[in-house]
Amino acid sequence: MSTVAASAVPTAQPVATAVADGRRLAASRRLVVKVGSALLVEGTTGRLKSTWLDSLVEDLVALRAGGTEVIVVSSGAIALGRGVLGLPRRALKLEESQAAASVGQIALARAWSEAFGRHGVTAAQVLLTLGDTEERRRYLNARSTFATLARLGAVPVINENDTVATTEIRYGDNDRLAARVATMASADTLVLLSDIDGLYTAPPAQDPTATHLPVVDVITPAIEAMAGAAGSELSRGGMKTKVDAAKIAVAAGTAMVIASGKRQHPLAAVDDGGRCTWFLAARSPATARKTWIAGSLDPRGALVVDAGAVTALKAGRSLLPAGVAAVDGAFERGDCVRILDEAGHELGRGLVAYDRAEAERVVRRKTAEIEAILGYAGRGEMIHRDDMALHGRHRGQEDETC
Ligand code: GLU
Repeated sequence: MSTVAASAVPTAQPVATAVADGRRLAASRRLVVKVGSALLVEGTTGRLKSTWLDSLVEDLVALRAGGTEVIVVSSGAIALGRGVLGLPRRALKLEESQAAASVGQIALARAWSEAFGRHGVTAAQVLLTLGDTEERRRYLNARSTFATLARLGAVPVINENDTVATTEIRYGDNDRLAARVATMASADTLVLLSDIDGLYTAPPAQDPTATHLPVVDVITPAIEAMAGAAGSELSRGGMKTKVDAAKIAVAAGTAMVIASGKRQHPLAAVDDGGRCTWFLAARSPATARKTWIAGSLDPRGALVVDAGAVTALKAGRSLLPAGVAAVDGAFERGDCVRILDEAGHELGRGLVAYDRAEAERVVRRKTAEIEAILGYAGRGEMIHRDDMALHGRHRGQEDETC
């Protein structure tokens, strides 16, 4: 067996286990790759490691060509900016980090844009704060931006908006940010590239008996304890934030890989059997998201749908305004609402794309009429099928992602 369970004593495993078991990045439909600052920026000179970046972008472009949609989460703004500003090599104060980030982010975005551009691929800069991922309205907006960029063939390159994020409202590390991005985008795999090639039973630099874990199938307290001590990264996140990221990812159905970026073509290396650690997800992202919608949200209202809409929903389609007969409750855009048939039976739940007042104005109206009614081009769906969980199983329900 290649996995570690709660009671098992971890043992060394052959390095090619994940590949032998069929776990490959190239098999992902949507992949998020997080790049640590120390990989992208020379510690002593503050210069961009452009040869390495080019090799990573070649891997990403090859994955795209094979049908994998890619999203990048890139650190490095502060490291690049501090070099430009000539800030001292000590821990920076918050306001110094923010100033450095605002200078470095320009260079960082340009580097990614040029590296992708050489392959004819468009990069898109997205700067997020904690609120953008934790507040439902903003979460839905960010999610739909990712989906639109994907449709238009652009690769999102995401970083935290360090310039405005103060201590209380910031992630502070891109490991957990990347995990939230992966769950928002319903990615099946997240890769954290850093200066360590995975999780060890103890810090390998200090303990010669430390063994590498190729696969973690459950994040037990024993696994967390291993992370507590290990890791020596230059960037903010150590091994602890990586395991915290893994917990966020796997709970939402996203598998996570910790792999070393201290080599050229680091993603190709993972698929060639290079040493790394896979944290396995028990469920697919679509199933996990629908379970979350169905079970853990407090519905704020209800939409009553007509018979035609019931048939459409059961066939796996989105709920359009035309199929809604009535609305109930005080809900905001992004809130969870119950979906009822005309006899009052609950068919399922979903995240509604309009607030109560707007919803009332567009019910029973054709999607093409929405802009004229509201004065802006709103969403075509009242509840998108990706944001809906019907009770019981219906065709199309399990397979949908954004
Ligand atoms: N957002 C920070 C930067 O771009 C990096 C945070 C981290 O290293 O995790 O410099």
